[in-house]
Amino acid sequence: MRLNYSLEACAALFEAEVIGSSSESITHVYFDSRKIQQAKGALFFALTGHSRSGNEFIEDAYRQGIRLFVIAKNSGAKFQSDALYFQVEDPLIALQKLATHHRKQFTYPVVAITGSVGKTTFKEWIFHCISDKFKVVRSPKSFNSQLGVALSLLEMHEHASIAFIEAGISKPGEMNLLQNMIQPDYGIFTAFGKAHRENFAHNEEHLLEKWVLFRECRLAFIPHTFADLENRLPGNFQVCPPYENHRFPSGYSGMLGVLKTFLTFLQFELKEIEERIDSLPTLALRMEVFEGINGNTIINDTYNLDLDALSEALIHQRQLAPDKKRIVVIGLSEKHAHERLEIEKLIASFNPDEFHFIPEGKSIPWENFHNSVVLVKAHRDRAFEYEVARGKALKHRTIVEVNLSAIKHNVSFYQSRLPKEVKILAMVKASSYGSGADKVASFLQQNGIRNFGVAFADEGVELRKAGIGISSSIVVMNPDPEHSDLIIEYRLEPAIYSFEQLDEFITALIHRNISGYPIHLKFDTGMHRLGFAPGDKERVLAIINSQPEVQIQGIYSHLADADNPIHSEFTKKQLATFDSIVSYFRANSSDSFLAHILNSEGSLRYPEYCYDLIRLGISMYGYTENKELKASLQPSVYWYSSISQIKAVPKGDFIGYGCSYEALDDLTIAVIPVGYADGFRRSLSNGAGSVFIHGIKCPVVGRVCMDMIMVDISSVNAKINDPVEIIGQNQPMDVFAKAMDTIPYEVMTGLSKRMHRVYVEE
Ligand SMILES: *Cc1c(COP(=O)(O)O)cnc(C)c1O
Repeated sequence: MRLNYSLEACAALFEAEVIGSSSESITHVYFDSRKIQQAKGALFFALTGHSRSGNEFIEDAYRQGIRLFVIAKNSGAKFQSDALYFQVEDPLIALQKLATHHRKQFTYPVVAITGSVGKTTFKEWIFHCISDKFKVVRSPKSFNSQLGVALSLLEMHEHASIAFIEAGISKPGEMNLLQNMIQPDYGIFTAFGKAHRENFAHNEEHLLEKWVLFRECRLAFIPHTFADLENRLPGNFQVCPPYENHRFPSGYSGMLGVLKTFLTFLQFELKEIEERIDSLPTLALRMEVFEGINGNTIINDTYNLDLDALSEALIHQRQLAPDKKRIVVIGLSEKHAHERLEIEKLIASFNPDEFHFIPEGKSIPWENFHNSVVLVKAHRDRAFEYEVARGKALKHRTIVEVNLSAIKHNVSFYQSRLPKEVKILAMVKASSYGSGADKVASFLQQNGIRNFGVAFADEGVELRKAGIGISSSIVVMNPDPEHSDLIIEYRLEPAIYSFEQLDEFITALIHRNISGYPIHLKFDTGMHRLGFAPGDKERVLAIINSQPEVQIQGIYSHLADADNPIHSEFTKKQLATFDSIVSYFRANSSDSFLAHILNSEGSLRYPEYCYDLIRLGISMYGYTENKELKASLQPSVYWYSSISQIKAVPKGDFIGYGCSYEALDDLTIAVIPVGYADGFRRSLSNGAGSVFIHGIKCPVVGRVCMDMIMVDISSVNAKINDPVEIIGQNQPMDVFAKAMDTIPYEVMTGLSKRMHRVYVEE
């Protein structure tokens, strides 16, 4: 808004009684104290009836620096000595007078848009089509009421060349007032919604009432559906033939026809018109459509709840949900309680599957909605934004998707291959190989897994907190002596690999007066990582037999190269060594412990060495080096992002840090919000790595940044926000790992925590 009115001019216009003085002049107006941005030059209209606490608004506005007010006589407002007050009968009428006066300052065409549906859509369409050739003023949002039209007109300025003003009415007689304010040169009638028609007994009367807006127009454009009224409407108008566009349902042909005729009138060429109509946005901008929880689609239209907008939204919902369940949610405000019957009637005429009025203080029952298209409409003052947000699926551009069903499949596959008595210990160390320990472990527990392995004590604590109860065993493979207290407190089971450690843990138990605590013994059978030497076994057993504080729950070792047949001789030696250790303890200890040595790969290669359980890691997540096995497993980890920006890079320009990439041709590139801080390593720079967009390989151009990459999309027809696959169908985990010169384990555990994990279960 860029007004320039003196206080004197306003006083005369409003026929106001002026209290106080000021030297400011007026550049813009407010009527809602929550929306104040710039106090200087602002005139605040304290509208009556708009808020129960109008005077509170005045005080609030004053606190924010506003010094010019229009208030109702006898408002009871407190006058401040450094402010100026215009006292009038009705502040809204004063605002309308200002708008009427303002509109008269301009001679460029003013086009009024009315109709019972489609006003905002049409206004946005026309803006889309002509804004490169005309300087357009248009009503903000769907401002079309007595107040909205006044505010829209105040947006007019000297640099514009055409104005589009929406006009809507809710009571008889209102159109006359709007016509007076707008004084349109041209008129556009969008449509007269069928559903709406049924709700007005005298629909011709209603139409004629709207027609008042056009009584002084030079020309009004009406859709072909009103051809039958031709002889009964006064004034100059043109009936517009329908126009079909494949992107719109046939119900839009009337409005599209009006648009086409109007563009012709503005002297656009036919070809140009067709192109522009072809590129129209298909949704009214005001209506937001997004993915909700539980597979819902949400149409959020909580901006207002007039019948026009409601029927438009209901039409839209029906289009979005030809074969889905339709749910309508209405947030009626107390002030509008009297409209309930009419709203109900209108909604009923659309036959939705469910229909909820949400009383003040109550919440939308999102948890009961599934796989439906949910339309949420509410009065502005219900402030439904939060309510809607609760139903919204959290969307982050870059996500790691974990398919729990695939994990379940892989576990079942192993169970089917192993002897029945062999248990599975699920390795969920390093946050379940990067896929999120608490979610994955809980899911496995639900599916009958009772043994879990983690690397460090804190990972075990996390699992207990996530609900892995003490009926499940959690082995800590790499316990830190400082964490003994934590281990005992959360009933975790330490893997003991040295005499010092054994001594320290027993001491901790003595201090707490605990006996019979389960521990695991780890032996080094040739890998030369952690573990007692095989020759330590007698001494270990002697200590344990003399210390009632501990009992052996497990004895294990780890293979260095289970998956490689070349080293099978070495592996067999490891297995034989382990076998002799197990035999020794079986013969000399009274504890009944679980023995285990095999990991994912080893368990299928050496099934005769499964002992009591296998420790399942990478294969559980669906990855293996073994070609035959690969066909039986399902990958569980996917990595997706979407395009942040697209740009053209002319031949000869450089891309990214260090100017390391020169465009040898004109390129189109996309920026993707994923970088080395997420695990997309810097070594993938300049063509070493790629992503897939619409199934097409797009190589990285320039260097990988911390949070972003640029990729060449010259051969893809892509738009902003289009999905990007980093790991998925086209670029499987092992292929991506190879590009980084590493293995799936490292890729998975390198996926940064800051990316959202999304869990899917089919
Ligand atoms: C990680 C780990 C496993 C699991 O190995 P995978 O190759 O992922 O199956 C098994 N045992 C120990 C001791 C481990 O640290």
